[in-house]
Amino acid sequence: MGGNEMNYIQEAFDTNWIAPVGENINVFEQELETYLGNKKYVAALNSGTAAIHLGLILLGVRAGDEVICQSMTFAASANPILYLGAKPVFIDSETKTWNICPIALEEAITDRITKGKKPKAIIVVHLYGVPCQIELIRAIADKYDIPILEDSAEALGSKYNDRPCGTFGDIAIFSFNGSKIITTSGGGAIVTKTKQFKEKAIFLATQAKDNRPYYQHSEVGYNYRMSNISAAIGRGQMEVLDSRIKLRRKINVFYKDLFKDIPDVTVFESTDKAGFSNCWLTTILINSNNNKGITNEVLRLALESENIESRLLWKPMHLQPLFINYPYYGGNVSENLFKKGLCMPSGSNLTDVDRERISKTVKSVFEI
Ligand SMILES: *Cc1c(COP(=O)(O)O)cnc(C)c1O
Repeated sequence: MGGNEMNYIQEAFDTNWIAPVGENINVFEQELETYLGNKKYVAALNSGTAAIHLGLILLGVRAGDEVICQSMTFAASANPILYLGAKPVFIDSETKTWNICPIALEEAITDRITKGKKPKAIIVVHLYGVPCQIELIRAIADKYDIPILEDSAEALGSKYNDRPCGTFGDIAIFSFNGSKIITTSGGGAIVTKTKQFKEKAIFLATQAKDNRPYYQHSEVGYNYRMSNISAAIGRGQMEVLDSRIKLRRKINVFYKDLFKDIPDVTVFESTDKAGFSNCWLTTILINSNNNKGITNEVLRLALESENIESRLLWKPMHLQPLFINYPYYGGNVSENLFKKGLCMPSGSNLTDVDRERISKTVKSVFEI
């Protein structure tokens, strides 16, 4: 925590706004709007997943529609497509940023159109905080007139050509889950281009009550609004966001330093120079043909035996039992990343002692 969270929570208690309504929510939203700039509107919700669900509804996705989605991501990017009875179409990654491949994307769009199903939306992700090639993707989306849902769950504070991630999509979303760069314990936000869309998102997130003195409903509603207590935490966290980004970027430098003498390992760095990453998680690739037979899983287990948690990369959606029967376009880029990659411990609270332990364990595994 940053320090002021408890003060804002106390304010909520003092004013008795213990509800999904209150001053903290309004201020947290305003602060996010100011942070993003570019005339964006923000509605605070109770998860990033909820934000994707409402985002797809606002973009007009209905049962039977097709929605394109980056394959290499967390399942929460794709699950809301199924909530709506729509059909995901998965796309491989490119090697520059590990995000949605523009070539495979265009191939998929033209092929789906040929098959008589123009996709209703494109879900792109800035994986691990690394911005996707959003300008190329925007050009393709505009060419075929398909809206973009920008999943910035991992990328608050990242930028592309100096413009914040979360401002490129027709709809964008953030997550404030406990694991993300800032947290409200659980929470999320939807970013819209118009005030009408923001109001519609809040309407849907609060059970879609018609404007009547009694409870009347003409549409399906959801219980997706952020609580005033969570928003209190969010306000405190906004004050330390910039320092958190600096910390995460320092951790990335620590790993570059640690692995520079280990030829079988590369710390991932985007080669798209327009992107600025918040370095939410530092990831590495291990050349598994190395003569020591050390794979990502070998290193993960070695770290685990020292009580150090690392994680394999997101397993691509097109390889998941849940999604295996849906269309997929691309090659084996994301599959290879999954086979070779590892997310290193990257928490903002990593101490010098922690780093020393990580360093020692890694060096002993690679025998240097
Ligand atoms: C965390 C995450 C989500 C979901 O956010 P929640 O707030 O946990 O619902 C969606 N997409 C990606 C890429 C994420 O990392």
